[in-house]
Amino acid sequence: MAHRNQNRPPGNHPNKKDSAEEIEADKMGRTRAPLTAVVNNASTSNTDGTESNTIEFTKEDIEALLNEKMKRGMASLDHKKKMDQMVDLIKRLKICVRWCFNENEKLHSEVEFAVKKCCDTEIEMYNKTEELSDTISNMRNTISSLEEINVKEKSEKLVAIEDNMKLQQCNSSLQSDLKSANEAYRRLDMEKTIIVESLNATRDLNKELQDRLKSLKDSHSEAIKHKEMLAKEITCLREELKKLMDDRDRLQGQLNAVMLEREKYIKFKYETYSKLDKLASKTEALENTCSSQKEKITLLEKKLCDERKKLEMADLSALKTREMFEEKKNIIRELQDQLADKEFQVVEGEKLRKKLHNTILELKGNIRVFCRVRPLLREDRSETNMVVSYPTSIEMLGRGIELGQNAGQKHLFTFDKVFNHDASQHDVFTEISQLVQSALDGYKVCIFAYGQTGSGKTYTMVGRPDAPDLKGMIPLSLEQIFQTSQSLNDQGWNYKMQVSVLEIYNETIKDLLSNRSSGFDQTRAENSVHGKQYSIRHDKNGNTHVLDLTIVDVCSAAEISSLLEKAAQIRSMGRTQMNEQSSRSHFVVTLRICGINENTEQQVQGVLNLIDLAGSERLSRSGATGDRLKEAQAINQSLSCLSNVIFALAKKEDHVPFRDSKLTHLLQPSLEGDSKTLMFVNISQDQSSIDESLCSLRFAARVNAVKLGSQTVRPKHTQGA
Ligand code: ADP
Ligand code: MG
Repeated sequence: MAHRNQNRPPGNHPNKKDSAEEIEADKMGRTRAPLTAVVNNASTSNTDGTESNTIEFTKEDIEALLNEKMKRGMASLDHKKKMDQMVDLIKRLKICVRWCFNENEKLHSEVEFAVKKCCDTEIEMYNKTEELSDTISNMRNTISSLEEINVKEKSEKLVAIEDNMKLQQCNSSLQSDLKSANEAYRRLDMEKTIIVESLNATRDLNKELQDRLKSLKDSHSEAIKHKEMLAKEITCLREELKKLMDDRDRLQGQLNAVMLEREKYIKFKYETYSKLDKLASKTEALENTCSSQKEKITLLEKKLCDERKKLEMADLSALKTREMFEEKKNIIRELQDQLADKEFQVVEGEKLRKKLHNTILELKGNIRVFCRVRPLLREDRSETNMVVSYPTSIEMLGRGIELGQNAGQKHLFTFDKVFNHDASQHDVFTEISQLVQSALDGYKVCIFAYGQTGSGKTYTMVGRPDAPDLKGMIPLSLEQIFQTSQSLNDQGWNYKMQVSVLEIYNETIKDLLSNRSSGFDQTRAENSVHGKQYSIRHDKNGNTHVLDLTIVDVCSAAEISSLLEKAAQIRSMGRTQMNEQSSRSHFVVTLRICGINENTEQQVQGVLNLIDLAGSERLSRSGATGDRLKEAQAINQSLSCLSNVIFALAKKEDHVPFRDSKLTHLLQPSLEGDSKTLMFVNISQDQSSIDESLCSLRFAARVNAVKLGSQTVRPKHTQGA
């Protein structure tokens, strides 16, 4: 049960038992206590258990409660605390509001009760006042009647006195009367005293009643005032209540907002927590990274320091390097100048080389003779007697050849080179490669193979097309020309090559690259039909032109080999038709080389003639008749013409019979002047061919003794001729 507050207003106490006493106390003019409420913590023992009934509030408490929010700097607190505080405040506000409600109701009932009590007291007072007024009027009436009586009695007294006088006589008589009258008077006086006393009492009562009425009126007015005050307080309280309700609504709204915010906050909190977790792990990782980065940074700073030092050093060295660079630049400039000089020297050197090469070749002889001995073939194996031997003296080694049987006469010959039966195609080519090079240098070069049929001329010049290792001088020379021309590209040389392939049979030219070419009979027929005479012309520049001859521009050795294949095919077709007559014709491959050097504006025009001559065997040996005789005569004619030309050239005769045969006519520019000629003399080493071999070697020895060009006949060691 709540303890009663000493300052509590009279209507505030729930226990009505005391109200009468209080009213009485009020009646006694006790001053009202100010409207205050104190939170009594001890009141929690209230039986209904509600907090509103257990806590009492003072005005200051409420004000403190209302002002509480403003007092605290909530903004600085975190959300959770804020929330808790808000909830606590709301809780307390709710308690306060509930308490206010209860108090209000109590006040209402107390005010009503007080008003009712006041009304009752008023009515009672009225009744009592009326009673008292009646009593007073009665008293007044009594007094007036008593006064009247008094007056009467006074008059009566006077009368009595008069009477006394009169009666004095009758005093005695009347003494008794007087006595009785005195007694009556005494009685009356007593009565009067009593009446006066009662009047006084009545007056006191009246006064008292008046006072009471006054006090009642005062208390009534006070009660009215109190009522008004209460009413004011009620209005105030209502306003406060309204305010509180507004506040409550506002707070409720705020609470809702706060709740929403709280939900959001909780959501946010959970998100934040998860983020926080992630962030924590990230932070950890970052911290790790940070620490490692810090280490790295310190390392890098150290490095930076070092690098700066290095940079300074490098700057210094860069300065030096720049100086060096300038020096080097100057050196490079000098070197470039030197290079230009050297390049010029190279060009000059190249010119010199050509000149020297030419001189060497000239010294070697502008016409040279190589002898090649064919090994014994399977069909020759029956022959036991070897007719060929090679002198081993230092002077003769590789240059000498001895022909003759052991018993018989021996013939020794020396040539520029003698290839025994073991010499490979490659060995042979090595010796002629420099001569081939001369064609690229702009000379006219002529290489031909001379010898009896079957001595290996075709083998030497063409080789075996089926075996790459057995390629003859023609394909090997052409390949070298292409290879060298390509390597000379670096020096600024650009070469244009043209090839033509022909055959001379019975003083008739056959174009072996013509698409129409076939047999000689056909060729002749075609020549007459198409008017193709293949007439030979030489211009003043020493260039040979064979009219109507197919000339093919070639860019690679592969193209040439395919052209040679084609020519060989056409030639072999002819051979079949002409019954192994290929050895009856001269096979001429001509490569025209035109070189231009873009750098030096030099220009060269070289010609390389590669000729597989017809068999040189004598008519007596072949025993030919008819067409074969004619063929043999034509061959002999052209071969003797060739030797005539060579000897005429050697003797520097005014007239050189070039035009006596198609072959010499064709080769004229390649035999004159500073042109270079190489003759292979092919011989067989079998005994049966000894005579023909001897003839060939004798002819070759004569040729070998000849020096073409500006020089005269060089004395050469020739024996057995
Ligand atoms: P030619 O053309 O002078 O009539 P060939 O070149 O046709 O003679 O040669 C006749 C035969 O001898 C061919 O079968 C050829 O292969 C062979 N022959 C020629 N010279 C050699 C050599 N140096 N080594 C191997 N075989 C050769
Ligand atoms: Mg041949």
